[in-house]
Amino acid sequence: MPAPLPDGEVPDLIDVGANLTHESFRDDLADVLRRAARCGVRRLVVTGTSLDASRAALDLAMVHPGTLWATAGIHPHVAAGYDDATEEVLRNLLRHPLVVAAGECGLDYHRDYSPRDAQRAAFARQVELAGASGRPLFLHQRDAHQDFLAILREQGSSLPAGVAHCFTGGPQEMEAYLDLGLHIGITGWICDERRAADLRSAVPALPLDRVLVETDCPYLLPRSIRPPPPGRRNEPGMLPEVVRMLAAYMGVSPEVLASAATRNAEVLFGLSAAPH
Ligand SMILES: [Zn+2]
Repeated sequence: MPAPLPDGEVPDLIDVGANLTHESFRDDLADVLRRAARCGVRRLVVTGTSLDASRAALDLAMVHPGTLWATAGIHPHVAAGYDDATEEVLRNLLRHPLVVAAGECGLDYHRDYSPRDAQRAAFARQVELAGASGRPLFLHQRDAHQDFLAILREQGSSLPAGVAHCFTGGPQEMEAYLDLGLHIGITGWICDERRAADLRSAVPALPLDRVLVETDCPYLLPRSIRPPPPGRRNEPGMLPEVVRMLAAYMGVSPEVLASAATRNAEVLFGLSAAPH
């Protein structure tokens, strides 16, 4: 379990990507949130990935106002079911003040759980919807960089703000997203010495005013956590480990990175001040 730090040494952190509606949190969410708070993570954005998951994320946010917020969107894995009725439900969810981003949406050609043309259509419609709803985008992309860029570029100057969530790419990919005005969300991927070479070479050029940090829990347990917790479940209390590792590769102190990332999340998602 993440070790609590003494009072006053805990930086204020926001986990912008927490899949807290995942079944692995069903039995102990209150404990998970308590541990997170002890580690400085007192505000979290719960990721919505389908209509049901987005509704569930909003339900959770309503139970924990000031601590949890939600996103509403259709993940590329389930994009095949996207239709006018889906969009109407999303549009309504996005009107709720606790729903602070449109997504998780994007393209995933790694798994290809939905046909690629369906993925592109659902993604393009959600980009439009984000703009019409005045909400930033919460973006997912895997093995689909060129098509993903093309859909975002089609928007031209009306592209909403957003975050390339769980960014794992190299310097060129990052530069393309920064050019579009996007924020970059960094997860525990940065802690994985087996596969983080590209990402580690990109983050020295990541400006402090564009960085966000996230756990993507229960996935992506930072590999540098030793020993790993039983069941290897990731949780928001692990976020300081992401900050520590990312700061080392960005060449800044963890404190400087933490305050920048927190400020960026507050502004991008319009979050209220941390609870006391
Ligand atoms: Zn994702």
